[in-house]
Amino acid sequence: MVDTTMNHEEQAFVVKVCHEFSNKADRMMDILWLIQDKFGYISPSAMTTIADTTHCSRVHVEGVVSFYDFFETSPQGQFIIRLCDDIIDRHAGSKSIQHTLEEMLGIEVGETTADGLFSLHLTACIGMSDQAPAALINGCVITCLSPTKIGRIIRSLRKFQDISRIVGKFGDGNNSHPLIASMVTNNIKRKDIVLSQQRANAGLKCLTQHSPETILETVALSGLRGRGGAGYLTGKKWRIAAQTKATERYIICNADEGEPGTFKDRVLLTEHADLLFEGMTIAAYAVRSRNGILYLRGEYRYLKPYLESVLEQRRKANLLGSAIPCKNGSTFAFDIRIQLGAGAYICGEESSLISSCEGLRGEPKNRPPYPVVSGYMGLPTVVNNVETLCNIPLIIDKGSDWFASIGTTSSSGTKLISISGDCLRPGIYEITMGVTVQKLLDMAGAESPAAIQVGGASGEMIGRIDFDRSLSYEDLSTAGAVMVFSENRNLLDVVDYFLHFFVNESCGYCTPCRVGNVFLKQGMEKIIQGQAERADIEQLKELSQTIMATSRCGLGHTSPKPFLTSLKSFPMVYAALLKEHPDGLQAGF
Ligand code: SF4
Repeated sequence: MVDTTMNHEEQAFVVKVCHEFSNKADRMMDILWLIQDKFGYISPSAMTTIADTTHCSRVHVEGVVSFYDFFETSPQGQFIIRLCDDIIDRHAGSKSIQHTLEEMLGIEVGETTADGLFSLHLTACIGMSDQAPAALINGCVITCLSPTKIGRIIRSLRKFQDISRIVGKFGDGNNSHPLIASMVTNNIKRKDIVLSQQRANAGLKCLTQHSPETILETVALSGLRGRGGAGYLTGKKWRIAAQTKATERYIICNADEGEPGTFKDRVLLTEHADLLFEGMTIAAYAVRSRNGILYLRGEYRYLKPYLESVLEQRRKANLLGSAIPCKNGSTFAFDIRIQLGAGAYICGEESSLISSCEGLRGEPKNRPPYPVVSGYMGLPTVVNNVETLCNIPLIIDKGSDWFASIGTTSSSGTKLISISGDCLRPGIYEITMGVTVQKLLDMAGAESPAAIQVGGASGEMIGRIDFDRSLSYEDLSTAGAVMVFSENRNLLDVVDYFLHFFVNESCGYCTPCRVGNVFLKQGMEKIIQGQAERADIEQLKELSQTIMATSRCGLGHTSPKPFLTSLKSFPMVYAALLKEHPDGLQAGF
């Protein structure tokens, strides 16, 4: 860690930032972001000043800084390039972008150019798999990269040293709002009940018509289940929160879609922010909460100014704030703040996300108690996914029967699916729950699909024999990612990438996950190199079961799935690489 003692002025800035947040250590994430924005990194001296001013230990501050990928502890270049290193980006040519950058800049990944202009880093999925290869430059998203395009961007940055020119000169996607400066295209390919909503000025009439109890009842009867993957019944969650004896409750929207290949929340945040905030406000009214937090993943920072502007408009229209009109001519108070994350996959897990909102390392908490009973700052907290909350206004408007009549018995409504990889039409598809994988692949124009990864890295890898399975909670459950791999791809490289991803993203708290995933990854490398025997595979299966059974949180509970499900779906791919002659093997792992 580079130690540069701050001068008086710099120190005063750090103190001022802490004061802005009332010197509260639980606002550590905001404090760190502002300090990094000013100095380009968070120096040891800055950490000491933060610790002194917020009355917490120096070790604590350093622990938080070091946890998040996007917080830097050494001086960085004026432009920090974070090239997406996801498997879809690799297949789309990200390695050639990396080589072009390394050649042009004369540095390797992790280094800064001698003139202090550029730093180069690799990062996990940034939510742009439909327009890969992609990268962030100082938080600005650049997409559909080619060696030629990145070359032109670098030359432009060298000449003008102005990030805003990038978007203007190289295309600005199809986001018309002036506060969204990026090249991102929304890529909506199929709309249904959620994506066809136009709610910007819809207001909150429903609150004047329904009591909190009616809303709780309606959401419960609709059968809406959490769209973040776990599928917990939303009405049940709300009911538990409402029944707690606490005087204060929180509504947190989880906009930390870090699962590789998922980008549907990006589109909802861009196109349907009002719908989301309306859903959060209805949730707050139903469970009697006065405070909401939108936890926005650091990769989507480019959306923050826009989302802040939407919140501000809603405050002006009395749709947020101290006097939101509700039933019987009364009012209630509710407001939302945006908490920016800083690049940590584990923060998509609800208790880790809460830790992050509290200014801590984004480590999971022990459960029980569950967040809905004791969550943010020890208060009952409803954590719902972006898509879940976007469904709420529709359900209240049209009724529980209407919603429950869509989809299957156990999976009401629609599901937004992000499709990427080897298909002609990557993008967002809003499908009715229960649609088969094959139908979805046809819609997206999948090209000779051999394997489909459903549900991101922590999901299942399936082969053709399973393409008639349905996307629903009772069959293939997904938070929203479907990655297509054609028969030209090396499937074990894909599995190896996912294992590498989990090794990197493990928070390190518990041994089975921290160490077990490393062993699993090493075992996969051995298989790929043709050095493994059948006994090795059996050992890796046992290791996988141990990791899943003994890890503390969802990451460890699911990290071996790419190995286990690919082994089940493609046993002969593994068998062909074993040291024993494959012809003599009955794969049947
Ligand atoms: Fe951390 Fe992994 Fe343990 Fe979860 S399972 S607490 S990510 S080490």
